[in-house]
Amino acid sequence: MLHKRELPDNEFEDLNKVYRIKRKLLYWLLRTPPTESVSKENLEDLFGKKLGSWFWMRIRQPSKRTQFGQAIDMLAAKARSENFEAKQVASAIRHDAQFHQKWHSPGFELKFPGEFNEWLDSIKAVAEPFYDWLASEKGFAKDVFGLTGGDMTRSKIMQAYRPQSLGICGYCDGPLGEIGSKADANDCEHFFPKSKWPHLAIHPANLFTSCKGCNETWKLDKTPMGNADEAGIRGTYHPSLLGGASLISVVAKQSPDHPMRVCIEIRDESVPERAQTLVETLDLEARWSNDVNEKMDGRGVSVFVSKAFQDRFRGQAPVEAEIDELLDDSIIWARKNISKEERSIRLAAALQYQKDCHLAQIIQELL
Ligand SMILES: [Zn+2]
Repeated sequence: MLHKRELPDNEFEDLNKVYRIKRKLLYWLLRTPPTESVSKENLEDLFGKKLGSWFWMRIRQPSKRTQFGQAIDMLAAKARSENFEAKQVASAIRHDAQFHQKWHSPGFELKFPGEFNEWLDSIKAVAEPFYDWLASEKGFAKDVFGLTGGDMTRSKIMQAYRPQSLGICGYCDGPLGEIGSKADANDCEHFFPKSKWPHLAIHPANLFTSCKGCNETWKLDKTPMGNADEAGIRGTYHPSLLGGASLISVVAKQSPDHPMRVCIEIRDESVPERAQTLVETLDLEARWSNDVNEKMDGRGVSVFVSKAFQDRFRGQAPVEAEIDELLDDSIIWARKNISKEERSIRLAAALQYQKDCHLAQIIQELL
């Protein structure tokens, strides 16, 4: 939610093709459900022979309906018996799918499942498996789905995000981790969690890379956009539609618990609840404060400053003006590298704090 992260155009287009096919299936089941259980012919009429057969294999195994097949039949049956409402659900899904184009329109909010909550389970049973297929090794086959860039898989999306992410988590400003290594912390994250907005699972503007900590420990199924109503959407940042890094102000202060420890505060002057949501969703103030304090020695002098000093003024006695300049340069460097270097936002804040409050002490330490 901090740094702007976007899927490159080619991958966006290919994933969007698959997503449109998913929506087509949902619209068909909701608007013009078949009179009996879904057949291979139905699917071939709707999608053509190749894609129709692809779906059929996931609906029927040799002797029985798969779970997905049962979900399809159940949604069709519900749509037959509640025909009028089913059409409204289809419209709500169509409306929501444009969230990335309408994010900044005044009054924009999502309609499903808020207005049609009792449809959530039946839509979810049909919509969510698309993510499992994306995450599977085969993913969506190029020739079946008419993709231009080869088969579409989750790992391909993660890799496509990688170069423009510069190895930095777009959510917390920490490192993503090395792909393929044991410490691989490159996770696939749904901004709108698929448990609550299954119709947006695999939507290309809803999938992001984040570090494992953000996805698996802090964000989990939390919903920074609240109920995705207007207030919820205005009260949060979005990884591609409204990055937070340039809108927040980050200040390091003396910790109330210990005079030599710092605590970090994150604010957004124009829309305070956006910063609040960020902090609450990702526990960022505590994480950043801990991280900065870990890098200080027991007396509160930044290890970073000492090292920079040794590098620049090897063997010389420190002069106040030079230390001051060194800190200024370091702050400028950290700010310039926001979104390009991990931890740069908290580093800039910590250095500013040291310059303002600990300059004399730093000089003392370096003597
Ligand atoms: Zn993170």
